[in-house]
Amino acid sequence: MLLITCPHCGTRDQSEFTYGGEAHISRPANSETMTDAQWAEFVFMRNNPKGVWAERWMHASGCRKWFNAVRDTSTDRFLAVYKIGEPRPNVTAAGLATPSGEPVIGSGNDAAKVMR
Ligand SMILES: [Zn+2]
Repeated sequence: MLLITCPHCGTRDQSEFTYGGEAHISRPANSETMTDAQWAEFVFMRNNPKGVWAERWMHASGCRKWFNAVRDTSTDRFLAVYKIGEPRPNVTAAGLATPSGEPVIGSGNDAAKVMR
C-alpha cells in the first residue's frame, strides 16, 4: 500500500489521489501566437526522469485540492509535499538505493550517482 500525505488533510491511501504529472509547468503567456508544433511541445512533452522530481497530485476523494510533491521515482518514496504556489523544498534522496537494494555504484541508477 502506498500512502500519500495531502498537505491539507494528512496521510491517506493512494487510491484517494489522482496523479497530475510534472509540477511547475506554466501555460505560455503567448499561446495565441505559438505554432502548432510549439503548442504540441507544451501540451505533450514532459520530463520523465528516474530519481527525484516534482509532480502534481490531487486529493480527489478528499479535499479535491491540487498540491505538489517531490518523489523519488526509482523507489516511489515521497520526500516532501507542499501546497500549490509554495516553492519546491530543497530535498534530496539521501541514502538513495534502488528498489532491489543493489548498491548505487554499478547499479545503473544514474540519479543516485548524481545525488552523492
Ligand atoms: Zn486533502
